[in-house]
Amino acid sequence: MRTLAARLEGIRPTIFAEMSAIANRAGALNLGQGFPDGDGPATVVERARRALAEGENQYAPGRGRPDLITAIAEHQQTRYGLAYDPADQIVVTTGATEAIAAAVLALVDPGDEVIVVEPYYDSYAAVIQMAGGIRRPVTLRWPDFRLDLAAMRAAVSDRTVMILLNSPHNPTGAVFGDDELAGIAAIAREHDLIVVSDEVYEHLVYDGPAHRPPATFPGMAERTLTISSVGKSWSFTGWKVGWACGPSSLVSAVLAAKQWLTFTSAGPLQSAVAMALREHGDWPVALRDSLRDRRDLLCEGLSRIGIPTNTPAGTYFALSDISGLGWPDSYAFCRRLPELAGVAAIPVGVFYDDIEAGRHLVRWAFCKETAVLVEALQRLERADLRFRD
Ligand code: PMP
Ligand code: GLN
Repeated sequence: MRTLAARLEGIRPTIFAEMSAIANRAGALNLGQGFPDGDGPATVVERARRALAEGENQYAPGRGRPDLITAIAEHQQTRYGLAYDPADQIVVTTGATEAIAAAVLALVDPGDEVIVVEPYYDSYAAVIQMAGGIRRPVTLRWPDFRLDLAAMRAAVSDRTVMILLNSPHNPTGAVFGDDELAGIAAIAREHDLIVVSDEVYEHLVYDGPAHRPPATFPGMAERTLTISSVGKSWSFTGWKVGWACGPSSLVSAVLAAKQWLTFTSAGPLQSAVAMALREHGDWPVALRDSLRDRRDLLCEGLSRIGIPTNTPAGTYFALSDISGLGWPDSYAFCRRLPELAGVAAIPVGVFYDDIEAGRHLVRWAFCKETAVLVEALQRLERADLRFRD
Protein backbone atom coordinates (compact mmCIF):
# COMPACT_ATOMS: atom_id res chain seq x y z
CA MET A 1 0.00 0.00 0.00
CA ARG A 2 1.35 3.46 -0.90
CA THR A 3 1.62 5.79 2.06
CA LEU A 4 2.75 9.04 0.46
CA ALA A 5 2.58 10.50 -3.04
CA ALA A 6 5.86 11.65 -4.55
CA ARG A 7 4.69 15.25 -4.47
CA LEU A 8 4.97 15.21 -0.67
CA GLU A 9 8.09 13.11 -0.33
CA GLY A 10 11.03 14.69 1.42
CA ILE A 11 9.05 17.67 2.75
CA ARG A 12 9.91 17.76 6.41
CA PRO A 13 7.15 18.23 9.00
CA THR A 14 6.69 21.90 9.75
CA ILE A 15 9.39 23.04 12.16
CA PHE A 16 6.88 25.16 14.10
CA ALA A 17 4.88 22.12 15.19
CA GLU A 18 8.05 20.15 15.90
CA MET A 19 9.57 22.81 18.15
CA SER A 20 6.26 23.59 19.90
CA ALA A 21 5.86 19.88 20.71
CA ILE A 22 9.37 19.78 22.25
CA ALA A 23 8.64 23.01 24.13
CA ASN A 24 5.38 21.63 25.54
CA ARG A 25 6.99 18.36 26.59
CA ALA A 26 9.68 20.25 28.47
CA GLY A 27 7.27 22.87 29.86
CA ALA A 28 9.47 25.49 28.21
CA LEU A 29 8.69 29.13 27.46
CA ASN A 30 7.82 29.06 23.78
CA LEU A 31 9.75 31.75 21.92
CA GLY A 32 9.61 29.46 18.90
CA GLN A 33 6.29 29.46 17.07
CA GLY A 34 5.12 32.94 16.15
CA PHE A 35 1.84 33.49 17.94
CA PRO A 36 1.17 36.21 20.50
CA ASP A 37 0.32 35.62 24.16
CA GLY A 38 -2.56 38.10 23.97
CA ASP A 39 -5.67 38.14 21.76
CA GLY A 40 -6.89 40.89 19.45
CA PRO A 41 -9.62 43.45 20.29
CA ALA A 42 -12.31 42.13 22.68
CA THR A 43 -15.16 43.74 20.72
CA VAL A 44 -14.05 41.83 17.63
CA VAL A 45 -14.14 38.58 19.61
CA GLU A 46 -17.61 39.61 20.80
CA ARG A 47 -18.68 40.17 17.18
CA ALA A 48 -17.50 36.64 16.29
CA ARG A 49 -19.29 35.24 19.33
CA ARG A 50 -22.50 36.95 18.18
CA ALA A 51 -22.09 35.55 14.68
CA LEU A 52 -21.79 32.05 16.13
CA ALA A 53 -24.74 32.51 18.49
CA GLU A 54 -27.01 34.31 16.04
CA GLY A 55 -26.75 32.16 12.96
CA GLU A 56 -23.89 33.13 10.63
CA ASN A 57 -22.91 29.49 10.64
CA GLN A 58 -23.42 28.37 7.05
CA TYR A 59 -21.14 28.63 4.02
CA ALA A 60 -19.92 32.09 3.15
CA PRO A 61 -19.66 32.88 -0.58
CA GLY A 62 -16.54 31.36 -2.19
CA ARG A 63 -14.92 34.77 -2.67
CA GLY A 64 -15.77 35.78 0.87
CA ARG A 65 -18.55 37.74 2.59
CA PRO A 66 -19.23 41.07 0.87
CA ASP A 67 -18.64 43.08 4.08
CA LEU A 68 -15.17 41.60 4.48
CA ILE A 69 -14.28 42.00 0.80
CA THR A 70 -15.29 45.65 1.00
CA ALA A 71 -13.29 46.13 4.20
CA ILE A 72 -10.19 44.63 2.51
CA ALA A 73 -10.67 46.91 -0.51
CA GLU A 74 -10.92 49.95 1.81
CA HIS A 75 -7.84 48.85 3.74
CA GLN A 76 -5.72 48.56 0.58
CA GLN A 77 -7.04 51.89 -0.73
CA THR A 78 -6.62 53.97 2.41
CA ARG A 79 -3.28 52.49 3.52
CA TYR A 80 -1.55 52.16 0.18
CA GLY A 81 -3.65 53.86 -2.49
CA LEU A 82 -4.19 50.48 -4.16
CA ALA A 83 -7.62 50.18 -5.82
CA TYR A 84 -9.16 46.72 -6.03
CA ASP A 85 -12.62 46.03 -7.38
CA PRO A 86 -14.56 44.09 -4.72
CA ALA A 87 -16.39 42.28 -7.54
CA ASP A 88 -13.44 40.30 -8.86
CA GLN A 89 -10.08 41.48 -7.51
CA ILE A 90 -10.20 40.13 -3.94
CA VAL A 91 -10.66 36.66 -2.49
CA VAL A 92 -10.91 35.66 1.18
CA THR A 93 -8.86 32.59 2.10
CA THR A 94 -8.18 30.28 5.02
CA GLY A 95 -5.23 32.28 6.27
CA ALA A 96 -2.44 33.64 4.12
CA THR A 97 -1.28 30.02 3.97
CA GLU A 98 -4.17 29.00 1.74
CA ALA A 99 -3.79 32.10 -0.44
CA ILE A 100 -0.12 31.23 -1.04
CA ALA A 101 -0.87 27.55 -1.67
CA ALA A 102 -3.74 28.29 -4.03
CA ALA A 103 -1.67 30.88 -5.92
CA VAL A 104 1.22 28.47 -6.43
CA LEU A 105 -1.01 25.51 -7.33
CA ALA A 106 -2.98 27.65 -9.75
CA LEU A 107 -0.08 29.38 -11.47
CA VAL A 108 2.95 27.05 -11.38
CA ASP A 109 3.22 24.07 -13.73
CA PRO A 110 5.59 21.10 -13.28
CA GLY A 111 9.12 22.19 -14.17
CA ASP A 112 8.39 25.90 -13.74
CA GLU A 113 10.79 27.83 -11.52
CA VAL A 114 9.84 30.08 -8.64
CA ILE A 115 12.28 32.55 -7.12
CA VAL A 116 12.14 32.69 -3.34
CA VAL A 117 14.18 34.72 -0.91
CA GLU A 118 15.90 32.46 1.60
CA PRO A 119 15.54 31.88 4.49
CA TYR A 120 12.03 31.18 3.17
CA TYR A 121 8.83 30.55 5.10
CA ASP A 122 8.50 26.76 5.17
CA SER A 123 5.14 26.52 3.42
CA TYR A 124 6.64 28.08 0.27
CA ALA A 125 9.00 25.16 -0.28
CA ALA A 126 6.22 22.66 0.39
CA VAL A 127 3.65 24.12 -2.00
CA ILE A 128 6.17 24.72 -4.77
CA GLN A 129 7.10 21.04 -4.55
CA MET A 130 3.41 20.03 -4.45
CA ALA A 131 2.89 21.97 -7.68
CA GLY A 132 5.88 20.22 -9.28
CA GLY A 133 7.75 23.51 -9.43
CA ILE A 134 11.41 24.17 -8.66
CA ARG A 135 12.47 26.79 -6.12
CA ARG A 136 15.36 29.07 -6.96
CA PRO A 137 16.53 30.72 -3.74
CA VAL A 138 18.20 34.10 -3.45
CA THR A 139 20.11 34.21 -0.19
CA LEU A 140 19.89 36.82 2.59
CA ARG A 141 22.94 36.71 4.85
CA TRP A 142 23.58 37.48 8.49
CA PRO A 143 23.91 40.10 9.86
CA ASP A 144 22.24 42.69 7.62
CA PHE A 145 20.12 40.45 5.35
CA ARG A 146 20.17 42.84 2.41
CA LEU A 147 18.71 41.56 -0.84
CA ASP A 148 21.32 40.90 -3.53
CA LEU A 149 19.54 42.10 -6.66
CA ALA A 150 22.30 40.80 -8.94
CA ALA A 151 21.77 37.34 -7.43
CA MET A 152 18.04 37.64 -8.00
CA ARG A 153 18.61 38.65 -11.59
CA ALA A 154 20.98 35.71 -12.06
CA ALA A 155 18.37 33.32 -10.62
CA VAL A 156 15.92 34.09 -13.44
CA SER A 157 15.83 31.54 -16.27
CA ASP A 158 13.50 30.94 -19.17
CA ARG A 159 11.53 28.58 -16.87
CA THR A 160 10.91 31.24 -14.23
CA VAL A 161 7.25 32.19 -13.81
CA MET A 162 7.01 33.73 -10.36
CA ILE A 163 8.85 35.63 -7.64
CA LEU A 164 7.46 34.71 -4.22
CA LEU A 165 8.28 37.60 -1.88
CA ASN A 166 7.84 38.25 1.81
CA SER A 167 8.48 41.67 3.33
CA PRO A 168 8.54 42.36 6.26
CA HIS A 169 10.47 39.12 6.13
CA ASN A 170 10.05 36.10 8.35
CA PRO A 171 12.40 34.95 9.84
CA THR A 172 15.06 37.67 9.40
CA GLY A 173 12.90 40.68 10.32
CA ALA A 174 14.28 42.50 7.27
CA VAL A 175 12.04 45.06 5.59
CA PHE A 176 12.90 45.60 1.94
CA GLY A 177 13.58 49.22 1.08
CA ASP A 178 12.40 51.13 -1.97
CA ASP A 179 15.69 50.40 -3.74
CA GLU A 180 15.29 46.65 -3.27
CA LEU A 181 11.61 46.68 -4.22
CA ALA A 182 12.25 48.83 -7.29
CA GLY A 183 14.96 46.37 -8.34
CA ILE A 184 12.63 43.41 -7.91
CA ALA A 185 9.93 45.25 -9.85
CA ALA A 186 12.36 45.89 -12.70
CA ILE A 187 13.28 42.19 -12.86
CA ALA A 188 9.62 41.15 -12.78
CA ARG A 189 8.66 43.57 -15.53
CA GLU A 190 11.63 42.70 -17.70
CA HIS A 191 10.95 38.96 -17.55
CA ASP A 192 7.16 39.23 -17.41
CA LEU A 193 6.95 37.43 -14.05
CA ILE A 194 4.10 37.13 -11.57
CA VAL A 195 4.94 38.48 -8.12
CA VAL A 196 3.24 36.85 -5.15
CA SER A 197 3.78 39.15 -2.19
CA ASP A 198 3.21 37.77 1.29
CA GLU A 199 2.63 40.80 3.52
CA VAL A 200 1.31 39.25 6.72
CA TYR A 201 3.64 41.49 8.78
CA GLU A 202 2.67 44.65 6.85
CA HIS A 203 1.78 46.59 10.02
CA LEU A 204 4.71 45.43 12.14
CA VAL A 205 7.50 47.77 11.04
CA TYR A 206 9.50 49.46 13.82
CA ASP A 207 12.22 51.47 12.13
CA GLY A 208 12.61 53.28 8.86
CA PRO A 209 9.88 53.90 6.33
CA ALA A 210 6.52 52.15 6.63
CA HIS A 211 5.82 49.01 4.63
CA ARG A 212 5.29 49.59 0.94
CA PRO A 213 3.56 46.86 -1.09
CA PRO A 214 5.39 45.83 -4.28
CA ALA A 215 2.08 46.36 -6.12
CA THR A 216 2.52 50.14 -5.67
CA PHE A 217 5.57 50.22 -7.96
CA PRO A 218 5.06 51.19 -11.62
CA GLY A 219 3.83 48.35 -13.78
CA MET A 220 3.42 46.05 -10.79
CA ALA A 221 -0.28 46.21 -9.88
CA GLU A 222 -1.14 44.18 -12.98
CA ARG A 223 1.32 41.38 -12.15
CA THR A 224 1.19 41.21 -8.34
CA LEU A 225 -0.93 39.15 -5.99
CA THR A 226 -0.85 40.83 -2.59
CA ILE A 227 -1.54 38.46 0.29
CA SER A 228 -2.15 39.16 3.96
CA SER A 229 -4.23 37.98 6.89
CA VAL A 230 -5.74 39.00 10.20
CA GLY A 231 -3.44 36.66 12.14
CA LYS A 232 -0.39 38.78 12.90
CA SER A 233 -1.70 42.33 12.64
CA TRP A 234 -4.75 41.81 14.86
CA SER A 235 -3.44 38.90 16.95
CA PHE A 236 -5.92 36.29 15.75
CA THR A 237 -3.53 33.68 14.39
CA GLY A 238 -5.96 30.86 15.21
CA TRP A 239 -8.76 32.31 13.11
CA LYS A 240 -6.97 31.62 9.83
CA VAL A 241 -8.68 34.33 7.82
CA GLY A 242 -6.57 35.78 5.04
CA TRP A 243 -6.95 37.33 1.59
CA ALA A 244 -5.40 37.84 -1.81
CA CYS A 245 -5.82 40.99 -3.93
CA GLY A 246 -4.71 41.52 -7.49
CA PRO A 247 -5.75 41.73 -11.11
CA SER A 248 -8.88 39.70 -11.78
CA SER A 249 -6.94 37.17 -13.88
CA LEU A 250 -4.66 36.26 -10.95
CA VAL A 251 -7.43 36.38 -8.34
CA SER A 252 -9.55 34.10 -10.55
CA ALA A 253 -6.63 31.67 -10.68
CA VAL A 254 -6.42 31.67 -6.86
CA LEU A 255 -10.17 31.09 -6.67
CA ALA A 256 -9.94 28.28 -9.24
CA ALA A 257 -7.66 26.35 -6.85
CA LYS A 258 -9.24 27.56 -3.60
CA GLN A 259 -12.70 26.31 -4.55
CA TRP A 260 -11.30 22.76 -4.53
CA LEU A 261 -9.20 23.15 -1.41
CA THR A 262 -11.65 24.64 1.08
CA PHE A 263 -14.42 26.04 -1.18
CA THR A 264 -15.04 28.84 1.33
CA SER A 265 -13.47 30.10 4.56
CA ALA A 266 -14.58 30.55 8.21
CA GLY A 267 -18.07 32.05 7.65
CA PRO A 268 -18.80 33.18 11.22
CA LEU A 269 -15.43 34.91 11.58
CA GLN A 270 -15.58 37.01 8.45
CA SER A 271 -17.81 39.83 9.71
CA ALA A 272 -15.65 40.07 12.81
CA VAL A 273 -12.55 40.39 10.63
CA ALA A 274 -14.32 43.08 8.60
CA MET A 275 -14.95 44.89 11.89
CA ALA A 276 -11.28 44.55 12.87
CA LEU A 277 -10.16 46.13 9.60
CA ARG A 278 -12.76 48.90 9.64
CA GLU A 279 -13.18 49.84 13.26
CA HIS A 280 -9.84 48.81 14.75
CA GLY A 281 -7.51 50.08 12.07
CA ASP A 282 -5.23 51.57 14.74
CA TRP A 283 -5.00 48.40 16.77
CA PRO A 284 -1.92 47.13 14.89
CA VAL A 285 -0.23 50.49 15.57
CA ALA A 286 -0.58 50.01 19.33
CA LEU A 287 0.53 46.40 18.95
CA ARG A 288 3.57 47.50 17.00
CA ASP A 289 4.52 50.08 19.61
CA SER A 290 4.31 47.58 22.42
CA LEU A 291 6.20 45.03 20.33
CA ARG A 292 8.98 47.55 19.73
CA ASP A 293 9.63 47.71 23.47
CA ARG A 294 9.59 43.93 23.69
CA ARG A 295 11.94 43.68 20.71
CA ASP A 296 14.42 45.99 22.43
CA LEU A 297 14.11 44.11 25.71
CA LEU A 298 14.81 40.75 24.07
CA CYS A 299 17.53 41.88 21.65
CA GLU A 300 19.43 43.91 24.23
CA GLY A 301 19.02 41.14 26.79
CA LEU A 302 20.38 38.44 24.47
CA SER A 303 23.31 40.59 23.40
CA ARG A 304 24.06 41.41 27.06
CA ILE A 305 24.30 37.72 27.96
CA GLY A 306 26.71 37.15 25.09
CA ILE A 307 24.42 35.91 22.29
CA PRO A 308 24.90 38.17 19.25
CA THR A 309 21.42 39.20 18.07
CA ASN A 310 20.12 41.42 15.27
CA THR A 311 17.55 44.14 15.85
CA PRO A 312 14.86 43.50 13.26
CA ALA A 313 13.18 46.42 11.48
CA GLY A 314 9.95 44.42 11.15
CA THR A 315 7.98 41.25 12.09
CA TYR A 316 8.08 39.89 15.61
CA PHE A 317 11.19 37.77 15.25
CA ALA A 318 14.84 38.34 16.11
CA LEU A 319 17.79 36.23 14.99
CA SER A 320 20.87 35.23 16.96
CA ASP A 321 24.23 33.89 15.84
CA ILE A 322 25.04 30.92 18.07
CA SER A 323 28.29 29.94 16.38
CA GLY A 324 30.18 30.84 19.59
CA LEU A 325 28.45 28.02 21.48
CA GLY A 326 30.04 25.19 19.48
CA TRP A 327 26.95 23.33 18.25
CA PRO A 328 27.15 21.53 14.89
CA ASP A 329 24.05 23.45 13.79
CA SER A 330 21.10 25.40 15.16
CA TYR A 331 18.74 22.46 14.70
CA ALA A 332 20.76 20.39 17.18
CA PHE A 333 20.84 23.41 19.51
CA CYS A 334 17.08 24.10 19.31
CA ARG A 335 16.19 20.46 19.91
CA ARG A 336 18.10 20.55 23.20
CA LEU A 337 17.38 24.12 24.26
CA PRO A 338 14.02 23.45 26.00
CA GLU A 339 15.65 20.86 28.22
CA LEU A 340 18.85 22.88 28.79
CA ALA A 341 17.24 26.23 29.49
CA GLY A 342 13.45 25.88 29.61
CA VAL A 343 13.12 28.08 26.51
CA ALA A 344 12.24 27.14 22.91
CA ALA A 345 13.41 28.76 19.66
CA ILE A 346 13.36 27.97 15.93
CA PRO A 347 16.45 26.80 13.98
CA VAL A 348 16.74 28.99 10.90
CA GLY A 349 18.90 26.55 8.92
CA VAL A 350 15.79 24.60 7.89
CA PHE A 351 14.66 27.63 5.83
CA TYR A 352 17.88 27.77 3.78
CA ASP A 353 19.05 25.63 0.84
CA ASP A 354 22.47 27.24 1.40
CA ILE A 355 23.25 25.19 4.51
CA GLU A 356 26.24 27.28 5.59
CA ALA A 357 24.30 30.56 5.44
CA GLY A 358 21.80 29.40 8.05
CA ARG A 359 23.63 26.80 10.13
CA HIS A 360 24.39 29.17 13.02
CA LEU A 361 21.11 31.10 13.18
CA VAL A 362 18.33 30.82 15.74
CA ARG A 363 14.98 32.67 15.70
CA TRP A 364 13.23 34.04 18.78
CA ALA A 365 9.64 35.33 18.79
CA PHE A 366 9.15 38.42 20.94
CA CYS A 367 5.33 38.58 20.63
CA LYS A 368 5.12 37.19 24.16
CA GLU A 369 4.26 38.93 27.46
CA THR A 370 7.08 41.10 28.80
CA ALA A 371 7.25 38.94 31.93
CA VAL A 372 7.74 35.85 29.75
CA LEU A 373 10.60 37.51 27.87
CA VAL A 374 12.24 38.61 31.13
CA GLU A 375 11.95 35.10 32.53
CA ALA A 376 13.29 33.58 29.30
CA LEU A 377 16.32 35.86 29.43
CA GLN A 378 16.96 34.90 33.05
CA ARG A 379 16.74 31.22 32.16
CA LEU A 380 19.08 31.62 29.19
CA GLU A 381 21.57 33.53 31.34
CA ARG A 382 21.55 30.84 34.04
CA ALA A 383 21.85 27.89 31.62
CA ASP A 384 25.04 26.46 30.23
CA LEU A 385 24.27 26.65 26.51
CA ARG A 386 27.58 25.30 25.23
CA PHE A 387 27.53 22.26 22.97
CA ARG A 388 27.24 18.84 24.53
CA ASP A 389 26.42 15.46 23.01
N1 PMP B 1 3.53 33.90 5.71
C1 PMP B 1 4.39 34.18 6.68
C2 PMP B 1 5.68 34.83 6.34
C3 PMP B 1 4.08 33.85 8.01
O1 PMP B 1 4.95 34.09 8.98
C4 PMP B 1 2.86 33.23 8.30
C5 PMP B 1 2.48 32.89 9.70
N2 PMP B 1 1.50 33.78 10.10
C6 PMP B 1 2.00 32.95 7.24
C7 PMP B 1 2.36 33.30 5.96
C8 PMP B 1 0.69 32.27 7.45
O2 PMP B 1 -0.31 33.14 7.79
P1 PMP B 1 -1.75 32.59 8.21
O3 PMP B 1 -1.64 32.15 9.62
O4 PMP B 1 -2.64 33.75 7.99
O5 PMP B 1 -2.07 31.45 7.31
N1 GLN C 1 4.02 32.01 11.05
C1 GLN C 1 4.36 31.47 12.33
C2 GLN C 1 5.87 31.50 12.52
O1 GLN C 1 6.60 31.83 11.65
C3 GLN C 1 3.92 30.07 12.57
C4 GLN C 1 2.84 29.52 11.74
C5 GLN C 1 2.83 28.04 11.81
O2 GLN C 1 2.97 27.46 12.87
N2 GLN C 1 2.68 27.42 10.70
O3 GLN C 1 6.32 31.15 13.56
